[in-house]
Amino acid sequence: MARKRTVAFSRNAVNLFFHLLTRCNLDCRHCYINPDQHGTATLPLATVRRWLEAFQPRSRETNLVLLGGEPTLHRDLAHIIRLAREMRFGSLTVDTNGYLFHDILARVTPAEVDYFSFSLDGPTAEINDPLRGEGAFDACVDGIRRAVAQGFATSLIYTVSRANIDHLDRMRPLLKDLGIAQFFIQVLGLRGRSAHPAGGPGTEPPGQVTREQWLDVIPPTAVRVADLGITVTYPKVFLDPSEPFACAGRVAENYFVFPNGRVYRCPLCEDHPLHSLVFRDDRLMAMPPINEQDLFALTIPEGCVMNRLIQPGNIEYRPDGRPAYQIACCLIKEELRAE
Ligand code: SF4
Ligand code: SF4
Repeated sequence: MARKRTVAFSRNAVNLFFHLLTRCNLDCRHCYINPDQHGTATLPLATVRRWLEAFQPRSRETNLVLLGGEPTLHRDLAHIIRLAREMRFGSLTVDTNGYLFHDILARVTPAEVDYFSFSLDGPTAEINDPLRGEGAFDACVDGIRRAVAQGFATSLIYTVSRANIDHLDRMRPLLKDLGIAQFFIQVLGLRGRSAHPAGGPGTEPPGQVTREQWLDVIPPTAVRVADLGITVTYPKVFLDPSEPFACAGRVAENYFVFPNGRVYRCPLCEDHPLHSLVFRDDRLMAMPPINEQDLFALTIPEGCVMNRLIQPGNIEYRPDGRPAYQIACCLIKEELRAE
């Protein structure tokens, strides 16, 4: 039997999502990276050190996630992991598509990395590869098996879209077989490729699911996965009428750092020059208005302001013009743990 809890924003924890580069060996149809907004640089080790130092005063309460692009393409990833450990960051996760370049598993230890977090969007190559690229399924599964065999804890991220929601339940035997400890179900956001399709056959973004599809499939599937002894996390997305709305931008500390120096507090803002902070000469500085902070301060009946601006199609309205429900902050999650 799974125990469910809503993971509210913590005032005592900091989450630092540090994009070391935007380059990637894959070309996923729904990739959220937008080089026009995030740059194309690979951050040198010295710059990574100075930018991490900006967060070092609270490193012990900070969950650091190293990502890209594909972070294992960064030649100095092992050095960066060691550096973060020396700086005493509270936890350290590496998000990867599974290709695990530069022999990264041999260059770091399970004591240094809390999780390797793999991205897979289907239970078979037939479902996953049309979204993420030919060979991506086999490479990711192989990467997970190698990581588990070497004693690393692994998690898996599944981005739900119209193309794969019907196959989510079939992930259960694969998750169990692979020895995945944590399963993150993610909602496809309209940013990056999903908002600006590359064009050409086979590159169309897979499209967001409806509220009905989400509510019909995600919560019950999450329970079934948790019953396997796997911790499952998924975004709440749609608030019940009785549930209060809260914007993480007002009450929590999340930082999304990009190689061009932009630092966002909200991932939905990442497709726009709305970042509230920026690294200039390696110093973290506040941006002048108008930026995302001005949006966090607004109260609207639809709930999340950025959702209303960039993906209004997921809100329904009553005949009197009021929204039928509120959209939750994308950073509020439901977590299921096996009892
Ligand atoms: S979604 Fe991730 S793995 Fe896919 S192209 Fe973008 S950065 Fe690479
Ligand atoms: S997703 Fe919406 S509610 Fe959450 S931080 Fe961004 S603007 Fe605020």
